Amino acid sequence: MKKCLLDLHREDFDALAEKLGQPKYRAGQIYSAVFSGLQIDEITNISKQLREKLKEEYVANPVTIYKKFESKDGTLKYALKLQDDEIIECVVLSYKYGRTICLSTQVGCRMGCAFCASGLNGLIRNLSSGEILGEILAVNRDISGGATEREITNIVLMGSGEPLDNYENVTDFLRKVTSPDTLGISQRNISLSTCGLVPKIKQLADDGFSITLTISLHAPNDETRKQIMKVANAYDLKSLIDATKYYFKKTGRRVVFEYAMISGVNDSFEHAKQLAKLVSGYPTHINLIPLNSVKEKNLIATNKKQIYAFKDKLEEYGASASIRRSLGADIEGACGQLRNKLLKNS
Ligand code: SAH
Repeated sequence: MKKCLLDLHREDFDALAEKLGQPKYRAGQIYSAVFSGLQIDEITNISKQLREKLKEEYVANPVTIYKKFESKDGTLKYALKLQDDEIIECVVLSYKYGRTICLSTQVGCRMGCAFCASGLNGLIRNLSSGEILGEILAVNRDISGGATEREITNIVLMGSGEPLDNYENVTDFLRKVTSPDTLGISQRNISLSTCGLVPKIKQLADDGFSITLTISLHAPNDETRKQIMKVANAYDLKSLIDATKYYFKKTGRRVVFEYAMISGVNDSFEHAKQLAKLVSGYPTHINLIPLNSVKEKNLIATNKKQIYAFKDKLEEYGASASIRRSLGADIEGACGQLRNKLLKNS
């Protein structure tokens, strides 16, 4: 595998220019070109000879589009290929205010949540910061037709993988993508979704990030949560909620809780009462998600009527809640579904 220029930092390009016997200003030229989304062959303000030399050891963006699917509702789903032929997926949702990209942070996942397709084959490997950034740059180009237009306005780290299980690379990616040298996306427009790795939630706040923290909660008590999420054995709900309060105190950002509704598991009025109480006392919001059924799992989605009734109950108990529109279900839109389908058919 070649080294990836998007994995480097600005200062590394100075060392690279020196190594290649080039003047210092070349470093800035190559850095700007690569981080704006160009491939090495497209950096036309350096000589062809230098491009060839760079290509011997490096690739700029290692992510290429393998397959693209368009849903009837306009949602785009991409299967992306990495240098080692691993496939990851990402989704682009279009809204009135712009486009949100849902990025993967790992190939596979080792969290093993009962309802999720991403972890069916365990963790294959972490993505590097350059690979995560490469997802956006590749898709942005596909949508806009050029490297310099900026079609993506919002980012959610909610694709395959557990972002906080790949902390160093994910935070490196966050620093890069918020830099004006690349997409310059504001932290306000970025969400990170985690199944709840408590020490890493605190570290994220301590490291000065203020992105929106989204917790995949899915259960309002430890007993139910342990049935569907292995991570609940490592961190109980009290320590998880305390970590989100800590995050709120440090960042001032409202915490969002994701709650996939599973028939007969977490969708009773008693669950609604417990849930509303659990997230009360500081600014929070609950997103109710109709479960996307995954064939391999024997879990059934709660029906629409009960989801609405559950939402009403939450509001009655004083919680802020909404029901997530389910986009892209006809193109295997849920986590890990597309990758699994492609693996099976290959
Ligand atoms: N590992 C991170 C991010 C990836 S999952 C996390 O756990 O948050 C992104 C969101 O999709 C999570 O809230 C996850 O619980 C949810 N999800 C996974 N499979 C799902 C399914 N079959 N139906 C509905 N939501 C699902």
